[in-house]
Amino acid sequence: RAAVAWAVGKPLSIEEVEVAPPKAGEVRVKIVAAGICCTDDHLLEGCFPNAEFPVIPGHEGAGIVESVGDGVTSVKPGDKVIPLCLPQCGECTFCLNPESNYCLRTHFSESQSLLPDRTSRFTCKGKQIYHFLWVSTFAEYTVIPEYAVAKIDAAAPLDKVCLFGCGFPTGYGAAINTAKVVKPGSTCAIFGVGGVGLSVVMGCKAAGASRIIAVDINKDKLAKAKELGATDCVNPRDFKKPIQEVLTDMTGHGVDYSFEAIGHADTMTAALASCNMNTGVCVMIGELPSGAVISIDPILVLSGRTWKGTLLGGMKLRK
Ligand code: NAD
Ligand code: ZN
Ligand code: ZN
Repeated sequence: RAAVAWAVGKPLSIEEVEVAPPKAGEVRVKIVAAGICCTDDHLLEGCFPNAEFPVIPGHEGAGIVESVGDGVTSVKPGDKVIPLCLPQCGECTFCLNPESNYCLRTHFSESQSLLPDRTSRFTCKGKQIYHFLWVSTFAEYTVIPEYAVAKIDAAAPLDKVCLFGCGFPTGYGAAINTAKVVKPGSTCAIFGVGGVGLSVVMGCKAAGASRIIAVDINKDKLAKAKELGATDCVNPRDFKKPIQEVLTDMTGHGVDYSFEAIGHADTMTAALASCNMNTGVCVMIGELPSGAVISIDPILVLSGRTWKGTLLGGMKLRK
Protein backbone atom coordinates (compact mmCIF):
# COMPACT_ATOMS: atom_id res chain seq x y z
CA ARG A 1 0.00 0.00 0.00
CA ALA A 2 1.01 3.57 -0.58
CA ALA A 3 -0.44 7.06 -0.22
CA VAL A 4 -0.84 8.33 -3.77
CA ALA A 5 -1.39 11.96 -4.76
CA TRP A 6 -3.25 11.65 -8.08
CA ALA A 7 -3.27 15.39 -8.83
CA VAL A 8 -2.35 18.78 -7.33
CA GLY A 9 -4.69 19.79 -4.52
CA LYS A 10 -6.34 16.33 -4.26
CA PRO A 11 -6.25 14.48 -0.92
CA LEU A 12 -3.88 11.52 -0.66
CA SER A 13 -5.53 8.18 -1.35
CA ILE A 14 -4.35 4.83 -0.01
CA GLU A 15 -3.84 2.45 -2.94
CA GLU A 16 -2.45 -0.98 -3.68
CA VAL A 17 0.71 -0.31 -5.67
CA GLU A 18 3.04 -2.67 -7.51
CA VAL A 19 6.65 -2.02 -6.65
CA ALA A 20 9.06 -3.49 -9.22
CA PRO A 21 12.28 -5.16 -8.02
CA PRO A 22 15.35 -2.96 -7.72
CA LYS A 23 17.50 -2.61 -10.85
CA ALA A 24 21.32 -2.47 -10.77
CA GLY A 25 22.54 0.03 -8.17
CA GLU A 26 19.15 0.23 -6.43
CA VAL A 27 17.65 -1.15 -3.23
CA ARG A 28 14.07 -2.00 -2.32
CA VAL A 29 13.22 -0.90 1.22
CA LYS A 30 10.34 -1.88 3.48
CA ILE A 31 9.40 1.45 5.05
CA VAL A 32 8.55 1.01 8.74
CA ALA A 33 8.04 4.66 9.77
CA ALA A 34 7.68 7.96 7.95
CA GLY A 35 7.62 11.58 9.08
CA ILE A 36 5.75 14.44 7.45
CA CYS A 37 7.76 17.53 6.51
CA CYS A 38 6.17 20.71 5.23
CA THR A 39 7.94 20.10 1.89
CA ASP A 40 5.47 17.22 1.28
CA ASP A 41 2.72 19.79 1.71
CA HIS A 42 4.40 22.09 -0.83
CA LEU A 43 4.41 19.14 -3.25
CA LEU A 44 0.70 18.45 -2.74
CA GLU A 45 -0.09 22.13 -3.28
CA GLY A 46 1.78 22.07 -6.60
CA CYS A 47 4.49 24.45 -5.37
CA PHE A 48 7.44 22.07 -5.78
CA PRO A 49 9.54 22.69 -8.91
CA ASN A 50 9.33 20.08 -11.70
CA ALA A 51 7.34 17.53 -9.66
CA GLU A 52 5.03 15.29 -11.69
CA PHE A 53 1.73 13.63 -10.74
CA PRO A 54 0.46 11.05 -9.87
CA VAL A 55 3.18 10.75 -7.25
CA ILE A 56 3.95 8.96 -3.99
CA PRO A 57 5.19 11.74 -1.68
CA GLY A 58 7.20 11.42 1.52
CA HIS A 59 10.88 12.06 2.05
CA GLU A 60 11.40 11.33 5.76
CA GLY A 61 11.42 7.66 6.62
CA ALA A 62 13.24 4.68 8.01
CA GLY A 63 13.05 1.04 7.05
CA ILE A 64 14.68 -2.28 6.34
CA VAL A 65 16.34 -3.32 3.09
CA GLU A 66 14.20 -6.05 1.48
CA SER A 67 16.24 -6.76 -1.66
CA VAL A 68 19.13 -5.24 -3.61
CA GLY A 69 19.94 -4.93 -7.30
CA ASP A 70 23.15 -5.98 -9.05
CA GLY A 71 26.32 -4.30 -7.89
CA VAL A 72 24.98 -3.05 -4.55
CA THR A 73 27.67 -3.49 -1.90
CA SER A 74 27.06 -0.98 0.91
CA VAL A 75 23.80 -2.52 2.20
CA LYS A 76 22.22 -5.98 2.26
CA PRO A 77 18.73 -7.37 2.95
CA GLY A 78 17.88 -6.94 6.64
CA ASP A 79 19.93 -3.78 7.15
CA LYS A 80 18.14 -0.83 8.75
CA VAL A 81 18.43 2.29 6.59
CA ILE A 82 17.33 5.89 6.31
CA PRO A 83 16.41 7.06 2.80
CA LEU A 84 18.20 10.29 1.88
CA CYS A 85 16.27 12.97 0.01
CA LEU A 86 19.66 14.53 -0.76
CA PRO A 87 21.91 11.67 -1.93
CA GLN A 88 25.68 11.46 -1.70
CA CYS A 89 27.33 9.66 -4.61
CA GLY A 90 30.71 10.14 -2.93
CA GLU A 91 32.43 10.69 -6.29
CA CYS A 92 31.37 14.01 -7.83
CA THR A 93 33.33 17.20 -7.19
CA PHE A 94 30.73 18.45 -4.72
CA CYS A 95 30.74 15.17 -2.75
CA LEU A 96 34.54 15.27 -2.65
CA ASN A 97 34.44 18.83 -1.28
CA PRO A 98 34.22 18.57 2.53
CA GLU A 99 32.32 21.86 2.67
CA SER A 100 29.55 20.86 0.28
CA ASN A 101 26.55 18.57 0.85
CA TYR A 102 24.95 19.07 -2.56
CA CYS A 103 25.70 16.00 -4.70
CA LEU A 104 25.68 16.75 -8.42
CA ARG A 105 24.07 13.37 -9.17
CA THR A 106 20.78 14.22 -7.45
CA HIS A 107 17.19 14.31 -8.58
CA PHE A 108 17.56 18.10 -8.74
CA SER A 109 20.01 17.83 -11.62
CA GLU A 110 18.69 14.56 -13.08
CA SER A 111 14.98 13.75 -12.74
CA GLN A 112 13.31 14.07 -9.38
CA SER A 113 10.12 12.32 -10.50
CA LEU A 114 11.84 9.26 -12.00
CA LEU A 115 14.79 7.17 -10.84
CA PRO A 116 18.25 7.89 -12.37
CA ASP A 117 17.53 5.62 -15.39
CA ARG A 118 14.43 7.78 -16.06
CA THR A 119 11.88 5.07 -15.29
CA SER A 120 9.51 4.46 -12.37
CA ARG A 121 9.25 1.36 -10.17
CA PHE A 122 5.64 2.14 -9.13
CA THR A 123 2.44 1.21 -10.96
CA CYS A 124 -1.14 1.49 -9.73
CA LYS A 125 -4.27 0.49 -11.66
CA GLY A 126 -2.10 0.07 -14.76
CA LYS A 127 -0.73 3.63 -14.51
CA GLN A 128 2.85 4.70 -13.89
CA ILE A 129 3.24 6.56 -10.59
CA TYR A 130 6.09 9.03 -10.13
CA HIS A 131 8.71 8.98 -7.37
CA PHE A 132 9.39 11.98 -5.12
CA LEU A 133 13.01 13.02 -4.48
CA TRP A 134 13.94 9.39 -5.31
CA VAL A 135 12.68 8.21 -1.90
CA SER A 136 8.80 8.23 -1.79
CA THR A 137 8.53 7.15 1.83
CA PHE A 138 4.70 7.19 2.00
CA ALA A 139 4.77 3.62 0.70
CA GLU A 140 5.18 0.25 2.40
CA TYR A 141 7.89 -0.60 -0.15
CA THR A 142 9.96 1.82 -2.18
CA VAL A 143 12.94 1.57 -4.54
CA ILE A 144 15.86 3.94 -4.00
CA PRO A 145 19.33 4.36 -5.56
CA GLU A 146 21.97 2.77 -3.31
CA TYR A 147 23.72 6.11 -2.83
CA ALA A 148 20.50 7.60 -1.46
CA VAL A 149 20.24 5.29 1.58
CA ALA A 150 22.34 5.39 4.74
CA LYS A 151 22.85 2.23 6.78
CA ILE A 152 22.09 2.82 10.46
CA ASP A 153 22.59 1.00 13.75
CA ALA A 154 20.58 -2.24 14.03
CA ALA A 155 19.23 -1.07 17.42
CA ALA A 156 17.93 2.29 16.14
CA PRO A 157 14.19 2.85 16.83
CA LEU A 158 12.82 3.44 13.32
CA ASP A 159 9.80 5.48 14.46
CA LYS A 160 12.17 8.06 15.94
CA VAL A 161 15.17 8.06 13.61
CA CYS A 162 12.99 8.66 10.54
CA LEU A 163 13.29 12.36 11.45
CA PHE A 164 16.99 12.15 10.58
CA GLY A 165 15.85 11.96 6.95
CA CYS A 166 15.09 15.67 6.74
CA GLY A 167 13.64 17.80 9.55
CA PHE A 168 16.22 17.23 12.25
CA PRO A 169 19.46 17.56 10.23
CA THR A 170 18.00 20.56 8.40
CA GLY A 171 17.27 22.57 11.53
CA TYR A 172 20.16 21.39 13.70
CA GLY A 173 22.62 21.77 10.81
CA ALA A 174 21.28 25.23 9.92
CA ALA A 175 22.41 26.36 13.39
CA ILE A 176 25.67 24.44 13.63
CA ASN A 177 26.94 24.28 10.02
CA THR A 178 25.27 27.10 8.12
CA ALA A 179 24.99 29.91 10.67
CA LYS A 180 27.92 28.50 12.67
CA VAL A 181 26.46 29.51 16.01
CA VAL A 182 29.61 28.70 17.88
CA LYS A 183 30.23 31.61 20.21
CA PRO A 184 28.73 30.82 23.60
CA GLY A 185 26.42 33.64 24.67
CA SER A 186 24.97 34.31 21.21
CA THR A 187 21.40 35.49 20.69
CA CYS A 188 19.21 33.65 18.16
CA ALA A 189 15.68 34.03 16.79
CA ILE A 190 13.84 31.20 15.07
CA PHE A 191 10.84 32.08 12.91
CA GLY A 192 8.53 29.05 12.79
CA VAL A 193 9.01 26.29 15.35
CA GLY A 194 7.57 23.29 13.54
CA GLY A 195 9.70 20.18 13.03
CA VAL A 196 12.53 22.12 11.40
CA GLY A 197 12.45 25.19 13.66
CA LEU A 198 12.43 23.07 16.84
CA SER A 199 15.58 21.37 15.55
CA VAL A 200 17.14 24.83 15.08
CA VAL A 201 16.29 25.54 18.74
CA MET A 202 18.14 22.34 19.73
CA GLY A 203 21.13 23.30 17.57
CA CYS A 204 21.34 26.80 19.09
CA LYS A 205 21.10 25.33 22.59
CA ALA A 206 23.85 22.78 21.87
CA ALA A 207 26.04 25.63 20.55
CA GLY A 208 25.72 27.46 23.87
CA ALA A 209 23.49 30.35 22.77
CA SER A 210 22.36 32.36 25.78
CA ARG A 211 19.14 33.68 24.34
CA ILE A 212 16.95 31.64 21.99
CA ILE A 213 13.79 33.44 20.87
CA ALA A 214 11.08 31.28 19.28
CA VAL A 215 8.64 33.14 17.01
CA ASP A 216 5.41 31.41 15.99
CA ILE A 217 1.70 32.15 15.64
CA ASN A 218 0.80 28.77 17.17
CA LYS A 219 1.13 28.83 20.95
CA ASP A 220 1.29 25.03 21.23
CA LYS A 221 4.46 25.09 19.12
CA LEU A 222 5.87 27.86 21.33
CA ALA A 223 5.33 25.68 24.43
CA LYS A 224 7.27 22.86 22.72
CA ALA A 225 10.08 25.25 21.82
CA LYS A 226 10.39 26.22 25.47
CA GLU A 227 10.71 22.56 26.50
CA LEU A 228 13.56 22.16 24.00
CA GLY A 229 15.57 25.21 25.05
CA ALA A 230 13.92 28.44 23.87
CA THR A 231 14.40 31.15 26.47
CA ASP A 232 11.74 33.53 25.07
CA CYS A 233 8.60 32.93 23.03
CA VAL A 234 7.01 35.58 20.83
CA ASN A 235 3.68 35.41 19.04
CA PRO A 236 3.68 38.13 16.33
CA ARG A 237 -0.12 38.34 16.66
CA ASP A 238 0.28 39.77 20.18
CA PHE A 239 1.96 42.91 18.79
CA LYS A 240 0.86 45.79 16.60
CA LYS A 241 4.35 46.67 15.40
CA PRO A 242 6.40 44.59 12.96
CA ILE A 243 8.05 41.57 14.55
CA GLN A 244 11.54 42.78 13.57
CA GLU A 245 10.98 45.88 15.71
CA VAL A 246 9.78 43.71 18.61
CA LEU A 247 12.94 41.58 18.41
CA THR A 248 15.20 44.63 18.08
CA ASP A 249 13.57 46.17 21.18
CA MET A 250 14.10 42.89 23.07
CA THR A 251 17.79 42.60 22.16
CA GLY A 252 19.08 46.15 21.68
CA HIS A 253 20.56 45.77 18.21
CA GLY A 254 18.88 42.65 16.85
CA VAL A 255 19.91 39.04 17.29
CA ASP A 256 23.26 37.57 16.24
CA TYR A 257 21.58 34.78 14.24
CA SER A 258 18.08 34.56 12.77
CA PHE A 259 16.45 31.62 10.99
CA GLU A 260 13.34 31.43 8.83
CA ALA A 261 11.73 27.97 9.00
CA ILE A 262 8.25 28.79 7.67
CA GLY A 263 8.42 29.44 3.94
CA HIS A 264 6.83 32.90 3.46
CA ALA A 265 8.46 35.86 1.71
CA ASP A 266 7.36 38.33 4.39
CA THR A 267 8.78 36.30 7.28
CA MET A 268 12.03 35.85 5.33
CA THR A 269 12.50 39.62 5.10
CA ALA A 270 11.40 40.02 8.73
CA ALA A 271 13.99 37.44 9.82
CA LEU A 272 16.69 39.24 7.84
CA ALA A 273 15.75 42.58 9.40
CA SER A 274 15.76 41.03 12.89
CA CYS A 275 19.48 40.27 13.00
CA ASN A 276 22.21 42.77 13.84
CA MET A 277 22.48 45.22 10.93
CA ASN A 278 26.26 44.85 10.69
CA THR A 279 27.31 41.46 12.04
CA GLY A 280 24.05 39.48 11.95
CA VAL A 281 23.63 36.23 10.03
CA CYS A 282 20.23 35.18 8.70
CA VAL A 283 19.61 31.67 7.39
CA MET A 284 16.76 30.97 4.98
CA ILE A 285 15.44 27.44 5.48
CA GLY A 286 11.78 27.66 4.47
CA GLU A 287 10.86 26.99 0.84
CA LEU A 288 8.89 29.40 -1.30
CA PRO A 289 6.77 28.19 -4.24
CA SER A 290 8.92 27.69 -7.35
CA GLY A 291 9.29 30.95 -9.28
CA ALA A 292 8.59 33.13 -6.22
CA VAL A 293 10.55 36.38 -5.90
CA ILE A 294 11.51 38.26 -2.72
CA SER A 295 12.13 41.98 -2.85
CA ILE A 296 14.19 43.60 -0.12
CA ASP A 297 15.60 47.02 0.65
CA PRO A 298 19.29 46.51 -0.31
CA ILE A 299 20.43 48.45 2.77
CA LEU A 300 19.44 45.37 4.81
CA VAL A 301 22.44 43.53 3.32
CA LEU A 302 24.65 46.50 2.40
CA SER A 303 25.00 47.42 6.06
CA GLY A 304 26.91 44.18 6.60
CA ARG A 305 24.39 41.45 7.34
CA THR A 306 24.98 37.98 5.89
CA TRP A 307 21.99 36.23 4.25
CA LYS A 308 22.46 32.52 3.64
CA GLY A 309 20.40 29.55 2.56
CA THR A 310 20.73 25.94 3.58
CA LEU A 311 19.88 22.57 2.12
CA LEU A 312 19.51 19.83 4.73
CA GLY A 313 21.49 21.95 7.17
CA GLY A 314 24.69 21.50 5.16
CA MET A 315 24.90 17.88 6.37
CA LYS A 316 26.49 15.14 4.29
CA LEU A 317 24.04 12.40 5.23
CA ARG A 318 26.16 9.47 4.01
CA LYS A 319 29.89 8.79 4.01
P1 NAD B 1 5.89 23.06 9.91
O1 NAD B 1 4.60 23.29 9.22
O2 NAD B 1 6.05 21.91 10.85
O3 NAD B 1 6.30 24.40 10.73
C1 NAD B 1 6.05 25.70 10.28
C2 NAD B 1 5.74 26.56 11.50
O4 NAD B 1 5.62 27.94 11.08
C3 NAD B 1 4.43 26.21 12.20
O5 NAD B 1 4.69 25.98 13.58
C4 NAD B 1 3.54 27.43 11.97
O6 NAD B 1 2.65 27.70 13.04
C5 NAD B 1 4.56 28.54 11.81
N1 NAD B 1 4.08 29.72 11.08
C6 NAD B 1 3.30 29.76 9.97
N2 NAD B 1 3.11 31.05 9.59
C7 NAD B 1 3.78 31.84 10.46
C8 NAD B 1 3.98 33.25 10.60
N3 NAD B 1 3.44 34.10 9.72
N4 NAD B 1 4.74 33.70 11.62
C9 NAD B 1 5.30 32.84 12.52
N5 NAD B 1 5.15 31.47 12.44
C10 NAD B 1 4.41 31.00 11.43
O7 NAD B 1 7.01 23.02 8.75
P2 NAD B 1 8.44 22.29 8.78
O8 NAD B 1 8.29 20.88 8.36
O9 NAD B 1 9.12 22.62 10.06
O10 NAD B 1 9.15 23.06 7.54
C11 NAD B 1 9.41 24.47 7.63
C12 NAD B 1 9.88 25.00 6.28
O11 NAD B 1 11.18 24.47 5.98
C13 NAD B 1 8.99 24.60 5.09
O12 NAD B 1 8.92 25.71 4.17
C14 NAD B 1 9.76 23.45 4.46
O13 NAD B 1 9.45 23.29 3.08
C15 NAD B 1 11.18 23.92 4.66
N6 NAD B 1 12.23 22.90 4.61
C16 NAD B 1 13.41 23.23 4.03
C17 NAD B 1 14.45 22.34 4.04
C18 NAD B 1 15.79 22.72 3.47
O14 NAD B 1 16.62 21.84 3.22
N7 NAD B 1 16.06 24.00 3.26
C19 NAD B 1 14.28 21.06 4.58
C20 NAD B 1 13.06 20.77 5.21
C21 NAD B 1 12.05 21.69 5.22
ZN1 ZN C 1 11.80 17.84 4.33
ZN1 ZN D 1 27.97 13.34 -5.59
